[in-house]
Amino acid sequence: MTETTTRFAYFKGKIVPIEEAKVSVMTHALNYGTAVFGGLRGYWNEEQEQLYVFRIHDHMKRFIQSASLIRIQLHYTPEELANVVTELLRREGFRENCYIRPLAYKSSELIGVRLHNLEDDVTIFSLPFGRYIQNEEGAHVAFSAWRRVEDNAIPARGKIAGAYANSALIKTDAAVAGYDEAIVLNENGHISEMSAANFFLVRDGVAITPPVQSNVLEGIVRRSLMHLLRDEMGVEVVERDIDRTEVYVADEAFMCGTGVQVAAITKVEHRPIGTGQLGPITSHLRDLFFDVVSGRVPKYRDWVTPVYQKEPVR
Ligand code: PMP
Repeated sequence: MTETTTRFAYFKGKIVPIEEAKVSVMTHALNYGTAVFGGLRGYWNEEQEQLYVFRIHDHMKRFIQSASLIRIQLHYTPEELANVVTELLRREGFRENCYIRPLAYKSSELIGVRLHNLEDDVTIFSLPFGRYIQNEEGAHVAFSAWRRVEDNAIPARGKIAGAYANSALIKTDAAVAGYDEAIVLNENGHISEMSAANFFLVRDGVAITPPVQSNVLEGIVRRSLMHLLRDEMGVEVVERDIDRTEVYVADEAFMCGTGVQVAAITKVEHRPIGTGQLGPITSHLRDLFFDVVSGRVPKYRDWVTPVYQKEPVR
């Protein structure tokens, strides 16, 4: 089997070979982190021979909102950006799961820390993508010694490139210490999220997740899982501050996001969570999530966008 890789990118208003999508070392965004990005997944459905992109319009809406946080004016509607993504994926012709990365950045080539009076640009590329967390059925995590960026420092609700230095510190210190991921507290000492995923725990059959005011990214998978838990599984979902020690007495915990998908957390440092095994609510939710994202649940077909045009059935 030949390995598929990235062949194209959307760059300066058109789809070009990936080798041509290059920026200068003087680019403002490279020097100061003045960029925002998105992250979407495409799921390959073998039976239907179709590639489905999960919640493409919601991702594009958040991408535009993230951009506005740092005064990047995208002259695209969510629909226009969604069309670029599906066209790019058709050109790539992926027949496997993939990841899509839209990036909006301050493209001026000059020195000067600011957001105003600078040029903006947008690029999008995609790549074949498997698991982001290897132990999705039972991750072993730590509490990070780092704190999550505060809303009044760099807003975590948008995907601002510069803020990901915070995530990178969190991730690498956890990985080098032998953990799969880390739970991050905010300055109030409550749980915010993981390095690049949102956090849930389950206690007495209730799913609990930090509210959006806890310095979390307003995750699209988070929102989708809250809906599936309530509407499909009859599980109550509560958004409230979570103390660190509640994790020690939780029955189940999991992290979620486009990259990590739905990954069970079964151990925090030396403490098993619940039974220390993948729990029933997390397990059920994961199965449902993978069915939904792969376009196998008709009720949630409007959450997924097909990439390939299909021949009409005669
Ligand atoms: N938090 C952070 C910090 C992230 O980077 C991500 C991944 N985009 C998430 C949460 C999950 O967000 P989403 O479900 O929209 O991918």
